Amino acid sequence: MADYDYDVLVIGAGPGGYVAAIRAAQLGLKTACAEGRETLGGTCLNVGCIPSKAMLHASEYYEAAAGGAMAAMGIKVKPELDLGAMHGQRKDAVKGLTGGIEFLFKKNKIDWLKGYAKFTSADTVDVAGKNVRAKNIIIATGSSVTPLPGVEVDNAKGVIVDSTGALELAKVPGHMVVIGGGVIGLELGSVWRRLGAKVTCVEFLDQILPGMDGDVRKEANRIFKKQGIEFKLKTKVTGATVKGKKAVLTLEPAAGGEAETLEADVVLVSIGRRPNTDGLALDKAGLAVNKRGQIETDHDFRTSVPGIWAIGDVIPGPMLAHKAEDEGIACAENIAGQTGIVNHDVIPSVVYTWPEIAGVGLTEEAAKERGEVKVGKFPMLANSRAKTNHEPDGFVKVIADAKTDRVLGVWIIASVAGTMIAQAAQAMEFGATSEDIAYTCHAHPTHSEAIKEAAMAVTGKPIHI
Ligand code: FAD
Ligand code: NAD
Repeated sequence: MADYDYDVLVIGAGPGGYVAAIRAAQLGLKTACAEGRETLGGTCLNVGCIPSKAMLHASEYYEAAAGGAMAAMGIKVKPELDLGAMHGQRKDAVKGLTGGIEFLFKKNKIDWLKGYAKFTSADTVDVAGKNVRAKNIIIATGSSVTPLPGVEVDNAKGVIVDSTGALELAKVPGHMVVIGGGVIGLELGSVWRRLGAKVTCVEFLDQILPGMDGDVRKEANRIFKKQGIEFKLKTKVTGATVKGKKAVLTLEPAAGGEAETLEADVVLVSIGRRPNTDGLALDKAGLAVNKRGQIETDHDFRTSVPGIWAIGDVIPGPMLAHKAEDEGIACAENIAGQTGIVNHDVIPSVVYTWPEIAGVGLTEEAAKERGEVKVGKFPMLANSRAKTNHEPDGFVKVIADAKTDRVLGVWIIASVAGTMIAQAAQAMEFGATSEDIAYTCHAHPTHSEAIKEAAMAVTGKPIHI
């Protein structure tokens, strides 16, 4: 340790980096974390998970009041939108949580090195003009928005925006065009639709939510259409011009064909995110990126250079905060000589729309490619709690191995799918069969009973359908 400044230096204080730093410090390692942003917490806490959920939660209440859901329960209200106050509570949430990470850094005696780090050698980085040498360096620099050529984002202008700009719109757009029917497009499109915007979603593929189970994608599309989002599937945006406070987009069929134009007050570019490695001077450390711009690691999060590790959005795998966090913990434990493991087969994902959409494990399509499966499905309409709460949309689907009955995947569309999916993930982590879930006593009346019923349906014996 004598000539090292730190045992562990983490680059980036997102959910991957700050969690890795805290675990490393808890394990007795002298730890620092370099972060160039003004606040800790990365994309997730500053411009991602947290502010988007703040706007989703508030706009959900607004729509429940404005759209008649409350009236259905005997509550008559005429809501008035105070967008400034809604943004205020979003900013408060971000401030509180990012400040919380600063407190945790102090509590765990982690040095926050303020500035962007770049490698000067395999064990040294430059942060704001100062060389820092560490025995272990964890790259946790995350990701940023993938640009769409010809559709230039300018968040300050507020006409063509990315997710950061779309979280901060000063007024509800008349017409919002969302490019990309993925998680960001559907979540932020939902926010502004609920607050009064007409929303059109342009998606290159023939279906929204790539990577999710086929039934889920179809049902989600049906539900969002019913809510008023217009979809232009199999369509690509080839260009945009901004005239004053409006944008005109050029659209073409994905397979080629006649172009059309579409006018919008706000255009959200949400076609994916790409790893942040520019500016790290990886070559100085002897590191290179793969074809997708990611840093490859082994199962322990070691890169090809001894002493350099990488986690989170900057490495392959789903770009999710909880995946980054778990990798941060495992990586720090491995550095400390423990056995840190992440089971990448059981990473839940959640879309926080209304209803929520969640999944863990294999889709039915992927499971069938591996062998014979049995599938049990249960509609939320037949779940007493969902029905009583006026939440009829959605279903639970359990996919099990036909021979061993082991659960391979669970998919849920339900108001509280994001909470329900934890049970499925835990069951799968313990190697559960569908019978294990079917014979587990679930409290009544809860949405979770639909998971039990879907598990019962795997053997054809649900009670309530
Ligand atoms: P990041 O959170 O991106 O953090 C990396 C940090 O590194 C940044 O703060 C950056 O400033 C810093 N950095 C970069 N380069 C350097 C450098 N050279 N030196 C010093 N610092 C550097 N995921 C979920 O699981 N649930 C959600 O609900 C969810 N919602 C989202 C909503 C939006 C709008 C967006 C954009 C993303 C959302 N995500 C969500 C994804 C989630 O934010 C990311 O998966 C997660 O933040 C990745 O964590 P990370 O630590 O790898 O990187
Ligand atoms: P995404 O990968 O979820 O979706 C992008 C969509 O854009 C895809 O459907 C893709 O087919 C489409 N697309 C790509 N190029 C296109 C083009 N030229 N024209 C039209 N459509 C095009 O990406 P995202 O929504 O930008 O989100 C980025 C990442 O952030 C995701 O990986 C996601 O995991 C993460 N995120 C997670 C959450 C959550 O967990 N709730 C929320 C927001 C973001």
